[in-house]
Amino acid sequence: MSRILIVEDEPGIAFALENDLQTEGYEVAVVADGVEAVSRARSESFDLILLDVMLPNKDGFDVCRELRRGGLRTPIIMLTAKTQEAEKILGLDLGADDYVTKPFSPRELRARIRAVFRRGVAEAGGEVHRFGRCELDLARFELRRDGQRVEATHTELKLLTAFVRGRGRVLTREHLLEEVWGSGFYVSDRVVDNHIVALRKKIEDDPVAPRHLIGIRGVGYRFEG
Ligand code: CA
Repeated sequence: MSRILIVEDEPGIAFALENDLQTEGYEVAVVADGVEAVSRARSESFDLILLDVMLPNKDGFDVCRELRRGGLRTPIIMLTAKTQEAEKILGLDLGADDYVTKPFSPRELRARIRAVFRRGVAEAGGEVHRFGRCELDLARFELRRDGQRVEATHTELKLLTAFVRGRGRVLTREHLLEEVWGSGFYVSDRVVDNHIVALRKKIEDDPVAPRHLIGIRGVGYRFEG
């Protein structure tokens, strides 16, 4: 299930977005202020950020710029109130992936979200990596086990991609944080460990005695095919 962070200070719009995206099957978190948006985006893993422009404490332009300068690569769709703001998003080097002008229809926004996710998948390329009973299909960006699609978050798939590409090598938590979450800011190592636990449940026959995602005490993890 993909996680989306909604940054919107108008309660009516935030509530409508939250409802609509949850109905679509996304996991959703909502914040109403720019400073909190930066801190949540850095401390948790999201697959997409919907970012309003006019916000208390720090506006959406600054939030976007700050997250990108910190190395965060999570796709960002800006929600703008006016066409001038939209022009600004295009004109400034903010690093946003797309923008939607208010008032927008839920259908339009959903289409934009799917397009952003598709682009991420396309960038991942067309490799298929097989290991054990699983295969990671990078063209479709999906994990299969015994030929059946396994539910996995965008972040879990990115993490697994880093592992299969670094097969046989020990990857440190720092390396994984940088590769999957983006460099330049502090995220707890626990974030990596928690995702490893989740991934093991999906790919290992026995998650307690893993054969693929091997923990190397005090260093990180090694992936074995
Ligand atoms: Ca606003």
